[in-house]
Amino acid sequence: MAAPAMEGAAVSALRSVLHRVRAAAERSGRVSDHIRVVAVSKTKPVSLIRDVYDSGHRCFGENYVQELIDKAPQLPEDIEWHFVGHLQSNKVKSLLAAVPNLAMVQTVDNEKIANHLDRFVASIGRRPLNVLVQVNTSGEASKSGVEPSDCVELARHLKLSCPNLVFSGLMTIGMKDYTSTPENFKVLSNCRANVCSALGISEEQCELSMGMSGDFEQAIEMGSTSVRIGSTIFGPREYPKKQEH
Ligand SMILES: *Cc1c(COP(=O)(O)O)cnc(C)c1O
Repeated sequence: MAAPAMEGAAVSALRSVLHRVRAAAERSGRVSDHIRVVAVSKTKPVSLIRDVYDSGHRCFGENYVQELIDKAPQLPEDIEWHFVGHLQSNKVKSLLAAVPNLAMVQTVDNEKIANHLDRFVASIGRRPLNVLVQVNTSGEASKSGVEPSDCVELARHLKLSCPNLVFSGLMTIGMKDYTSTPENFKVLSNCRANVCSALGISEEQCELSMGMSGDFEQAIEMGSTSVRIGSTIFGPREYPKKQEH
């Protein structure tokens, strides 16, 4: 395929992000190849995702079920989609059916949603689905994420009672306003220590998904293995945060 005459803004922004990821990994004595960059494309058009895909990137994230269901079939099947939004039980079936290349659900935060995912993965006969436990590390009241003290129990449930899911680690958003503090990263890292010792797994078997546009370098320095980056790659989002009409 012919190279575009001029590199698009999102492609050069991604390049700069990958460079910064590498530098942060090196500063903390880690290997940047082991750090996943999820390009969070919510609200952005398929054409822009395609540009970034054509530059070689394969890992993208969305946080609205319907938006992912609309976009995924318009894009190549070798994209690894990460679902990073709040997932309701009644959406699980349509999500799994429409997105066979769903690589991971990062936001499992209760047994009910875990059981739904497990059941539907089995019923459509797809390969096991990777999942992360979302942890509320802010101490603020929130409808998303288990309390840090409850993450071991949910991780154990996934590992022991959900044969069609692969417990792969922990995720946090940080504060309610989608910023994070070093304290949030510290809490998630402590959760990993607890989960690993309770389940008898090594830290390599328990990812930490933390860090977004504003703080991914610090998150990497504090142990993140997967960063979720939206606006720094795709530009600012143009809709009110909560809900359109
Ligand atoms: C939108 C979103 C991101 C990306 O946020 P940016 O600040 O634009 O990088 C990361 N994680 C989740 C869960 C999101 O919903």
